[in-house]
Amino acid sequence: MEIEQQIQSLREELRQHNYNYYVLDAPVISDFEFDTKLKQLQELEAAHPEFHDPNSPTLRVGGQVTKNFNTLVHEHRMYSLDNSYSKEDLLDWEKRIKKAVDGPVEYTCELKYDGASMSLTYQDGQLEKAVTRGDGVQGDEVTTNIRTIKSVPLQLKGDFPSRFDIRGEIVLPFAGFEAMNAARVAAGEEPYRNPRNTASGSLKLQDSSEVAKRPLECLLYSVVGNNLGLTTQFESLEKAASWGFKVPKHAVLAKSIDEVLEYINHWDVARHELPYETDGVVIKVNNLRQQEELGFTAKAPRWAMAYKFQAEQASAVLHTITYQVGRTGAITPVANLEPVSLAGTIVKRASLHNADQIAKLDIREGDTVYVEKGGEIIPKIVGVDLSQRPADSQPTKYITHCPECQTELVRAADEALHYCPNETGCFPQIVGRIQHYISRKAMDIEGLGGETVALLVKEGLITNYADLYELRVDQLLPLERMAQKSAENLVEGVAKSREIPFERVLFALGIRYVGETVAKKLARHYKSIEALSQASEDDLIGVDEIGSAIAQSVVQWFMEEKHQQLVSRLQAAGVQLQLSEEVLANQTDTLKGDVVVVSGVFHRVSRTELKKLIEDNGGKVSSSISSKTTYVVAGDKMGPSKRTKAESLGVALITEDEFLAKLGQ
Ligand code: AMP
Ligand code: ZN
Repeated sequence: MEIEQQIQSLREELRQHNYNYYVLDAPVISDFEFDTKLKQLQELEAAHPEFHDPNSPTLRVGGQVTKNFNTLVHEHRMYSLDNSYSKEDLLDWEKRIKKAVDGPVEYTCELKYDGASMSLTYQDGQLEKAVTRGDGVQGDEVTTNIRTIKSVPLQLKGDFPSRFDIRGEIVLPFAGFEAMNAARVAAGEEPYRNPRNTASGSLKLQDSSEVAKRPLECLLYSVVGNNLGLTTQFESLEKAASWGFKVPKHAVLAKSIDEVLEYINHWDVARHELPYETDGVVIKVNNLRQQEELGFTAKAPRWAMAYKFQAEQASAVLHTITYQVGRTGAITPVANLEPVSLAGTIVKRASLHNADQIAKLDIREGDTVYVEKGGEIIPKIVGVDLSQRPADSQPTKYITHCPECQTELVRAADEALHYCPNETGCFPQIVGRIQHYISRKAMDIEGLGGETVALLVKEGLITNYADLYELRVDQLLPLERMAQKSAENLVEGVAKSREIPFERVLFALGIRYVGETVAKKLARHYKSIEALSQASEDDLIGVDEIGSAIAQSVVQWFMEEKHQQLVSRLQAAGVQLQLSEEVLANQTDTLKGDVVVVSGVFHRVSRTELKKLIEDNGGKVSSSISSKTTYVVAGDKMGPSKRTKAESLGVALITEDEFLAKLGQ
């Protein structure tokens, strides 16, 4: 008993010192004293394994090795942020907000930390898991690595909720990054390119003791969960800090967009003094009830907006312009530059967008150009330093033929890009389409990677994705570096993709403009490829959020004989080309034609569930009340101005119970 108490009190003490040092930056004991206590605890724990605690401060040094990181679905989805670049963008955003919510709106302004996003889950004050953002729906579990980051509390203090997620950014402060690079250079290794990629790469290291050695930090900015008793974003930041999290103290409350701009202008300059990288400001509607009213688009919250700082610029000599062919046949011109350092990275290539852009800026080989780096991975060229132009300079002649297959390029009148029309005979297009088909968000075929696809095409084993289903192990074995086991895995991975649901198959087909979200919409509406393939352009445009460009592209795709053949071969191979029975069972036309607004707080189902119910039953969810609204499902605390608006337009209000009764629930 006495030993246990001794262990507990040492843990307690060390936790507090960790907190003082890593979160508050205000240590009260020397490193030597800290190490002595830590060693004492290590010895006691080693002698008494019965008191093991995964959250003990001794386990911060890591040591556990993860071979494969598990994929976990986020309990609450991790969204991206919409971006803005000007006061006008922000004012437009404010207008949209004022339309959708009642009463005065306040904003929190926070810095946008540039690192790797992370979701931490706490249960009863203890770190349960840490998951990377991944695609927002699911990410990789990296808990053992995150435990080694000293500013991540393993045990919370104060009055924390029993269960919640907290989101933050793992960053590598400049000083630590430079120290790491100095050590690498001294050891004759290549230095790391930039802090952000190094931070995000660290999370997936297999050996957690390697992670422990890196001076990573975790900066928190958002608490999510059910019934947390929080009312504003600002309050949640303060609360999170009181539970022991590292919440940077730069957040402020703003009462207007002008106050937001003041904050932006201040930090645009002052951020250069910060110890870590920031790439903008995040502005959030402060009131959580208003946030709930505003909800999310497919990609981002409507209640938050990122403001990106002006990108940094550098000038560099442009050696050559080369051309890449994408899976759709689109040609992208690329500038190959004399390497130059920009915003912490070495830049060698930049995007030139299209022929018009090159002509407009009169960009030529041999020019000295201005390169800018925004949020994009590949930087862009924004201008030419004409004073440096060589005397023998020649205007750029855009290519007329495909660099891969020599077919003459085409360009539709209203299109910015040139295309290689040789869909079935142009190597990067053939490979690109199959690579898209097997990719993670599409058919997610295990055991088959992008390079193998290129090899299979080169060897003449496949020319389209339907061919994948006919591959046999004995055909694969003669390939370079293809062992029996990998060949079997490949065939098995392909076979397993027969279980992938229809909406993802639809995305995988690679129909122009049919991204993930559109594929979902179309799958839900038409329910089978059969029905979709027969839809007319007008019929498609009638589907919520489907515009004419998408409609045209879908109709054209299905008109082509070769695509019809692909579809029937996939059908024969057993790929899911309609919604499953299970999904269909939950879908009805009960609310067909209804345009429904959801407002207030609900008890029997969550807002998200309510919206899903409306859509699953054929209705349309709209965010603001108009004469087109069929009825409003009104919960508790519905805003007074919404109520007045509904009344003045004669739009009916129904309760949650009445709504559920309509659906027979
Ligand atoms: P983006 O990756 O450009 O879509 O921006 C969204 C990401 O910004 C989020 O996933 C977060 O990881 C990150 N972020 C950094 N700082 C903040 C902050 N203060 N609030 C919200 N998100 C932030
Ligand atoms: Zn081509």
